[in-house]
Amino acid sequence: MDAEWQHQHIENHDDFLGLTVNSGIEQPESFSSESVTRFLSRKRKALLSVDEYVRGILEGNITVLSQAVTLVESSKKEHQIIAQDIILKCLPYSGKSLRIGITGVPGVGKSTFIEAFGKFLTNQGRRLAVLAIDPSSERSRGSILGDKTRMEELAADPHAYIRPSPSAGSLGGVARKTRETVILCEAAGFDTVFIETVGVGQSETVVHSMVDFFLLLMLAGAGDELQGIKRGIMEMADVIAINKADGDNIHKAELARVQYKNAMHLFPTADSGWTPQVFTCSAYAKTGLEQVWSAINDYTKLTGDNGYFRYKRSEQARFWMFETINDRLKSDFYLNPVIKAALPDFEEKVQREEISPFSAATQLLENYYHL
Ligand code: GDP
Repeated sequence: MDAEWQHQHIENHDDFLGLTVNSGIEQPESFSSESVTRFLSRKRKALLSVDEYVRGILEGNITVLSQAVTLVESSKKEHQIIAQDIILKCLPYSGKSLRIGITGVPGVGKSTFIEAFGKFLTNQGRRLAVLAIDPSSERSRGSILGDKTRMEELAADPHAYIRPSPSAGSLGGVARKTRETVILCEAAGFDTVFIETVGVGQSETVVHSMVDFFLLLMLAGAGDELQGIKRGIMEMADVIAINKADGDNIHKAELARVQYKNAMHLFPTADSGWTPQVFTCSAYAKTGLEQVWSAINDYTKLTGDNGYFRYKRSEQARFWMFETINDRLKSDFYLNPVIKAALPDFEEKVQREEISPFSAATQLLENYYHL
């Protein structure tokens, strides 16, 4: 036995008190060490240096941009450190794009519209990045925005860059990653950024906090309740476009336009001084796109002249500082091993009413601060 265990594992000796180790199995032939090495070298793409990433991005190299965005989205600490460095170095070259939020319920035609509107803009020589915030992917790992073949024509356009929603983490975390990706896209020379989201929950508020202009797509003939659009979202919109105004639907869309226009008048005047506009459009027939674009330009001119554009951006920057702090404090607390271990016990005691929720929270926080 003695001689044998020496050739195998020390853990398998009779005197060893820990776990034993099973003997391995023979490697199947197809798994030669060469193929494994080849596989690993393909999988583990060497990271570039921060300066190489920054140079690539500033040169408009889409492959390097994509790799940098992957680092931004990664939850690995070493990736985050590099990502933050890249963002910092790209920051002076960012900020020059027009950031447009696009929302609407599933089926309203967001992808079709973005493809048509996107092509309309790239044909005018603009460079467009399309990003997304998809709250569904975080919960179910399935995504509303990303799972179908979308925007094929735009995806093949050399002047467009489409990046699906980051999927891991809380809505705040996902949104922060998208906010950081905007910086990289701008440094890479994209002068127009679309941020798409599904208009059914909290995500449009978060998108509103990172865009200059907010476009809401709606359908004719469906009540607000049916479309799941809350009044608050309508209030955020700078333009409402009633989509699918084609074929038999043209008349209904026009009626809806008048109704929404009247409804918008009931909202208080926006701080921007801008009066929200309502149009009809068809992503199929490619109508109404010019009107939407011209409204965006009017808005930019107005808010540029009255100072609101800059004011909103500075407020958004402040907001994101606090969001990031909140996010970090929360995850540091909940991921702390001591807190993680103590939490279930406190939860139970609170549920059994042996301790008040406030006192439980205070004790946990005190524990955390004194660690
Ligand atoms: P999303 O879920 O909001 O991204 O919507 P899609 O772009 O996937 O469109 C949903 C459905 O509406 C698809 O079947 C589209 O072909 C259709 N659709 C999109 N835009 C239009 C339009 O302008 N007119 C008509 N008639 N149908 C459209």
